[in-house]
Amino acid sequence: MKVLKFGGTSVGSAQRIKNVANLILADGQQKIVVLSAMSGTTNSLLEISGYFRQQNPVGAADVINRLEHKYSETIDELYVQDSNKQKAREVIREIFDYVRSFGNRAFTIFEERCIVAQGELMSTNLMNLYLLEQGVNVAFIPALEYMRIDKNAEPDFKYIEQNLKQQISANPDAQIYVTQGFICRNAYGEIDNLQRGGSDYSASIIGAAIRADEIQIWTDIDGMHNNDPRFVEGTQPVRNLNFDEAAELAYFGAKILHPTCVTPARMYNIPVRLLNTLQPEAPGTMISTVSEQDKIKAVAAKDGITSIRIKSSRMLMAYGFMSQVFEVFERYKTSVDLVTTSEVGVSLTIDNPKHLDDIVTELKKFGTVVVDPDMVIIAVVGDMAWDNVGFESRVIEALEDVPVRMISYGGSNYNISILIKAEDKIRALRALSAKLF
Ligand code: ASP
Ligand code: MG
Repeated sequence: MKVLKFGGTSVGSAQRIKNVANLILADGQQKIVVLSAMSGTTNSLLEISGYFRQQNPVGAADVINRLEHKYSETIDELYVQDSNKQKAREVIREIFDYVRSFGNRAFTIFEERCIVAQGELMSTNLMNLYLLEQGVNVAFIPALEYMRIDKNAEPDFKYIEQNLKQQISANPDAQIYVTQGFICRNAYGEIDNLQRGGSDYSASIIGAAIRADEIQIWTDIDGMHNNDPRFVEGTQPVRNLNFDEAAELAYFGAKILHPTCVTPARMYNIPVRLLNTLQPEAPGTMISTVSEQDKIKAVAAKDGITSIRIKSSRMLMAYGFMSQVFEVFERYKTSVDLVTTSEVGVSLTIDNPKHLDDIVTELKKFGTVVVDPDMVIIAVVGDMAWDNVGFESRVIEALEDVPVRMISYGGSNYNISILIKAEDKIRALRALSAKLF
């Protein structure tokens, strides 16, 4: 069985919901359909929560009314039969009554989680009713009955597998199973979620739990591109990535896939396909265990990087220096991304400068410290086994006019990372595309 996830814009209007329905029914195969909230809804629900927290019921009511109006318009357009419009209105009214009920009680993160969960509940209810109206044998499986995270906010796979299978076997003949992305229960049984953008993660977890044949992530872009289309003209979708390459790219903000999404799928070698609702025939991007040897796949950039260099003669032929340096970052819960070393110094990067001042003060005990803010990591990702020649030189050649602060290769065969100034980012991305693709 396949698992298909549709993002917020893919279910963002009545027409879009109908398109998704056509898409999932086309091949007649049984599948699990995971939906995000309609686009904009989660943001609105967070805005409502913000007003409640600030004890501003008027502000909350205003956003609630506007959101409710949007749903009522969607319902009018979506269903043909009055009885179905009626049913949908009741479901949605109940949800909005529930949201309004938070106006007169203490408001904490727990209440906020209950409110933000409503977006996915609404989109899946609307889809479920729409499929019923089309005469489809559809089963509605509530994520809150099987999706669960443990005390470390990690998916509780044993629980999920057991309970999801139970939900499915209660309706073994359904053609379509509709369920919510993003929402779950936590270790205490409370309503919780998998963080913003977490529907991709839901799909991957579900796919892993049922050992799906394939996980499809449907958005409105034709897969992962080989460079950033906002800055570089003529970028192309990448047809195939292996899990390692996808994981490298995820950190560099390849926006269409939530970074954590790949992990559960990878656990069971389940291919993940990124597809475009607006162009369903396009092949998109396939992420799997298949590698295309010696091929550079994509270039990506990560903004907001700070680099720190520690120079010390104490490092020369001494042991323990590195561990002392890294221990400082550990103490300040700051993760280090790129590292380069020489005999007398080490440079590294962080993307969270919250504790920078404290970190620098501590590092000064070891040597001279230089900080460069406003840097960018450029990553070149592909299958670049070290015993092959030529990859690094092509990258360096492309960047011949760009001042380079750090270069890192060898952490994996799948990534060459280069640190440059933010102001050089766009020309570096363009030069790399011109040279590599
Ligand atoms: N609706 C949630 C969000 O907007 C989850 C998702 O769309 O993936 O973050
Ligand atoms: Mg999303």
